[in-house]
Amino acid sequence: MTKFNLNTLVRENIKGLQPYSSARDEYVSDGTEMIFLDANENPFENDVNRYPDPQQRNLKAVLAKQKGVQVDNLLLGNGSDEVLDLIFRVFCEPNVDNIISLPPTYGMYKVLSGINAIENREVLLTKEFQLDVPQILDTVDKNSKIIFICSPNNPTGNSIDKSDILKLLKGFSGLIVIDEAYIDFSDKESWLGQLNEFPNLIVTQTLSKAYGLAGIRLGLCFASTEIITVMNRIKPPYNVNQLTQKRALEQVLKTEVLSHEVTQILKEKKRLTKILSNVGFIDKVYPSDANFVLVKVDDANARYKQLLQKGVVVRNRTTQPLCENTLRLTVGTKEENEKLITALNEIA
Ligand SMILES: *Cc1c(COP(=O)(O)O)cnc(C)c1O
Repeated sequence: MTKFNLNTLVRENIKGLQPYSSARDEYVSDGTEMIFLDANENPFENDVNRYPDPQQRNLKAVLAKQKGVQVDNLLLGNGSDEVLDLIFRVFCEPNVDNIISLPPTYGMYKVLSGINAIENREVLLTKEFQLDVPQILDTVDKNSKIIFICSPNNPTGNSIDKSDILKLLKGFSGLIVIDEAYIDFSDKESWLGQLNEFPNLIVTQTLSKAYGLAGIRLGLCFASTEIITVMNRIKPPYNVNQLTQKRALEQVLKTEVLSHEVTQILKEKKRLTKILSNVGFIDKVYPSDANFVLVKVDDANARYKQLLQKGVVVRNRTTQPLCENTLRLTVGTKEENEKLITALNEIA
């Protein structure tokens, strides 16, 4: 691999930063009965009158064990959107650095680069929605800090070839972020197992999709201890609130319910895929490792509106590169999918 040196990637101002030290950082409870007069909280108990654990120790312990990583390799955020923003702010110098994103893909990499005044260099996926590795390596320069890879990719649904990702991990001296928001629906292996192998690898996941917790906002970031340590320096102290920590902990322990739900969704996806390919105006159903399918239709704008009139909201992706006349359909419950199928047949 091109020599990797984390120190040269972190922004100068972040290296010298003295992190905010909260009351809950300075005194960590060891379970002894104490009187807490250190954080200016209201003392009258109502379950949430105390500040949350800034390091989310209980939740992280369970998640780290489930995911097979050390707690030191895990950072939690207010959705993966916050995690991605923290990554930008640790590594990318505004108006100097750039990132590489690979459309058609998740829109937040571009939005976050705009917010953080970072140039977003786009390299299109191939027409099979895979990486154009030579073009990507041609596009990076000394100010390229991060390549964002979404796998399984949103909105296309496919996984990115492992051998191509390996080429970038080995050939790029910046960071590779692999966004695995949909990994729980995929039979492909997560990149978590490769964290020890590649010091420049960051993997993000979320409780918003398979875990059924989009409403509580909890994102996961996995990386080397060194990367997690520097991200912790800039993380807002109480970024994951008490209600989220509590609800997430309850939910991640319901492993059987969760795997049953994922099984149901995958079964429905398979059924839906077959039926969709027989709809007259659907030209193509793209293979998907996620909980949605991308379909190519005759006229996405018209079909989108017709579906709305039938009470079904899908995502029109026609403006995305390589996605002309495509709609992205989330797999719903059996009943919801039946309504989608009925609506599709009615407008056909
Ligand atoms: C849905 C999604 C996320 C989830 O973001 P959260 O902020 O955790 O809800 C992240 N990445 C991709 C590619 C997604 O599609």
